Amino acid sequence: MELLHSGKVRDVYADGDDLILVASDRISIYDAVLPTPIPDKGKLLTALSLWWFEQLADLLPNHVVSATDVPAEYAGRAIRCRRLSMVPVECIARGYLTGLGLREYQDRGSVSGIALPPGLVESSILPEPIFTPTTKAPVGEHDEFITLDEVIDKLGRETAERLRDLTLAVYRRGAELAAERGIIVADTKLEFGWAPDGTLVLADEVLTSDSSRFWPAESYQPGRTQDSFDKQYVRDWAVRSGWDKKAPPPPVPDEVVEATRARYVEVYERLTGRSW
Ligand code: ATP
Ligand code: MG
Repeated sequence: MELLHSGKVRDVYADGDDLILVASDRISIYDAVLPTPIPDKGKLLTALSLWWFEQLADLLPNHVVSATDVPAEYAGRAIRCRRLSMVPVECIARGYLTGLGLREYQDRGSVSGIALPPGLVESSILPEPIFTPTTKAPVGEHDEFITLDEVIDKLGRETAERLRDLTLAVYRRGAELAAERGIIVADTKLEFGWAPDGTLVLADEVLTSDSSRFWPAESYQPGRTQDSFDKQYVRDWAVRSGWDKKAPPPPVPDEVVEATRARYVEVYERLTGRSW
């Protein structure tokens, strides 16, 4: 297979008209890939993504062709999918105020150009989920918000509004289901592609902790930063170790790897109700 692209965490191969998306056990924090893998992380996130595609199947079509018809060496961590023409916009839905959204709100009272009521604090729930698309930044640069009007200019009104509606529908379904299982989905990033007949198809990974912010509901408290469900442990360790977030990160000790793996398992088990 031809290796088309190697991301921080995933590798993308072409196989005829299909793609094989392979999720490695690599973990990235603060935009850096740690030198130590988290065993089973790629399999856990692949299984979670597949589970979500099933939960969402009545809302919209997705790119999954097969979870089993993949090279044996990648079994469990790969998805065979339809190769689509990707929409050049990252479709983000936000239900809570954090990250880039919080910064814009503090500066201008809006998020991605959408005016919000005064008095919200870090991690506040928004009056309703909002669509905050971003450009796809080239490697090394950060994505930037674009407004719905800019998406309309780029892709036309019909496509832009459809992307917004689908993104919010997926977020609402995902957040509702996760909430029943004690997990807050603060925000999530989706990617869509066009099938040859022009249909918009849900692609990439969906509602995993690499594409979403998951917060444990039991410790949620507005007015402060929330713990990330699975990466917090390793982030805290990295900060304690004195790493300056610039130099290559140090190797991760076994107990931190084990605790982090356990968090990924917990997210998978809580959300799907299956045991790993
Ligand atoms: P990073 O953490 O740097 O985002 P990653 O490890 O998640 O990296 P990506 O760089 O996101 O990996 O690689 C996945 C690529 O595959 C993305 O460019 C995405 O747009 C693309 N992709 C996903 N599904 C499809 C599809 N069905 N057809 C074509 N391209 C797809
Ligand atoms: Mg990506």
